Amino acid sequence: MTTHDATGKALTVLGPIDPNDLGMTITHEHLLIELGAAYVPPVNEEGERQAEEPLALDNLGWVSVNWASSKDNLVYQDVETAKREVAHYKNAGGQSLVDATTVGIERDPEALAEISRASDVNIIMGAGFYVGPSHPKDFSDRSVDSVTEEIIRDVQVGVGDTGIRCGIIGEIGCSWPWTDDEKKSVTAAVAGQRATGAPLLIPPGRDQKAPAEIVNLIDREGGDLSRTIMSHVDIRIHEREILRELATTGIYIEFDTFGLNTPFQPHALELFMPSDSQRITKVKWLIEDGHLERIVLAHDICTKHRQRTYGGHGLDYIPANVTNWMKIQGITQAQINTMLIENPRRVLTFA
Ligand SMILES: [Zn+2]
Repeated sequence: MTTHDATGKALTVLGPIDPNDLGMTITHEHLLIELGAAYVPPVNEEGERQAEEPLALDNLGWVSVNWASSKDNLVYQDVETAKREVAHYKNAGGQSLVDATTVGIERDPEALAEISRASDVNIIMGAGFYVGPSHPKDFSDRSVDSVTEEIIRDVQVGVGDTGIRCGIIGEIGCSWPWTDDEKKSVTAAVAGQRATGAPLLIPPGRDQKAPAEIVNLIDREGGDLSRTIMSHVDIRIHEREILRELATTGIYIEFDTFGLNTPFQPHALELFMPSDSQRITKVKWLIEDGHLERIVLAHDICTKHRQRTYGGHGLDYIPANVTNWMKIQGITQAQINTMLIENPRRVLTFA
């Protein structure tokens, strides 16, 4: 059953395409999601009341800084809303995006295909498994081979009986400390990459050392770092030296939480979150250190409050706002094109 019809192509939910047709591409979003596994119980009585309220203008401020404690905020599965959100991105020049929704957070291949057709935006869908708390009940009992087979089938044949294929393996969820089941999940993802030539997308757990541990495992298992994206680098790595070392491995560095403005991490309030100006500073560090060709950009929208429909910044935030700030900070249009067009094209092309 091994076919390599995707070799040299990017694989979208509507089939393989010439990577030159990808154009502007943001490499980590969620058009539909059920992120209940990320719920954080509120810290006080006011929070307990807000947690049960639907998102509205009069609680948008509270939800924006307690985004993981609003149950309504963590779930959105309306296809028509998603079409409107993607239309904003298209209007701002966007042509393609990666939907990184994997097993455990309600990936929906048919809905993604419908959204892609309606919006005329290429959508690349993810294979594999999200973080431990969202793993299926039998995951601990499954072998690496069985998980690998599922990933390969999702890429080469399609998810279930839909015939709709995954064009990237990930996001493969990892916590800190990194659990054995999550290591198995990444090991299977790497084996899936070796078998299919697909790109990989992996977010590290909440520690500056997590990305390097993941790189070591990918290397050991024979994965292709030049076809792998390390997600969440903007919120995981704050030291220039560690950032430079990671880029030197050849892995793609994803700054993927543009627009997420919260001072601390809701799941670990002792941990600092960068602002967009700090994200841009880190992008400049990498460019100055010679790693422009390893940077990709995204918002990782995974809550309602960041969508235009609910008063948020939307999928057009990078092309409509961030690129302008980058230019004022001395990043050229050619460099922006490298990050938004050329680098995604290279990493999303199947071996
Ligand atoms: Zn994500």
